[in-house]
Amino acid sequence: MLKLKNINTYYGNIQALKDVSLEIKEGEIITLIGANGAGKTTTLMSISGIVPPKSGEVLFMGKPINDMTSEKIVSMGLCQVPEGRHIFPHLTVTENLDMGAFLRKDKANISKDLNYIFDLFPILNERRNQPGGTLSGGEQQMLAISRALMARPKLLLLDEPSLGLAPIIIRQIFEIIKKINKDSGTTVFLVEQNANLALKAADRGYVMENGRITMTDTGENLLSNEDVKNAYLGM
Ligand code: ATP
Repeated sequence: MLKLKNINTYYGNIQALKDVSLEIKEGEIITLIGANGAGKTTTLMSISGIVPPKSGEVLFMGKPINDMTSEKIVSMGLCQVPEGRHIFPHLTVTENLDMGAFLRKDKANISKDLNYIFDLFPILNERRNQPGGTLSGGEQQMLAISRALMARPKLLLLDEPSLGLAPIIIRQIFEIIKKINKDSGTTVFLVEQNANLALKAADRGYVMENGRITMTDTGENLLSNEDVKNAYLGM
């Protein structure tokens, strides 16, 4: 579904990604873990076209998307939930969700998807007429994920969904991510500092250090890898 081939991405003279290659197959949950500043967010930005790579290739469903606009990439079925949520604080929950469906042509299915989301996150149903900015951090994360789902993505990119949330809410969000993947076969690329939960949820994981991929294996094997344990699992 997604292939990165030797991606090099820069901010001015600073090289943030060095020869990054990875692959995500349809229906998988893949995680990218790494320390602060390793290049995880830049990897997502390079995929979604927000920070275009200087060299290398991004293939989505076999097609190069390097030179496409972010809007075109979304319309092909690739949606990013950014770090820090970025919901529209003055719009209601329902209006935020409507924004996610903005590019869709199959308007008839939108209310069906809205019902699915309200089943997934009943709290959003309760708060449907409230401005997004009045929700708690966890609820805003649920709204950000839901807004992306309203675009019916084939591939969902999640940037640190656990950031700043209480452990009980984090667990709930990870359960929902697994459920979304199972219910609709949505492929998930999850960038996380919470390596423990991310590797438990993932089929496979990649480890990134200083802009390079240094390890890849199944989530299970990475969880029991001594280097990963020492560096990322606090063991
Ligand atoms: P975090 O977990 O803190 O979000 P990360 O793994 O997502 O970290 P990135 O945000 O991708 O890492 O950053 C990778 C490198 O690029 C870091 O050295 C960072 O300082 C640098 N960087 C990120 N954004 C910019 C920017 N807008 N301008 C200049 N340098 C940047």
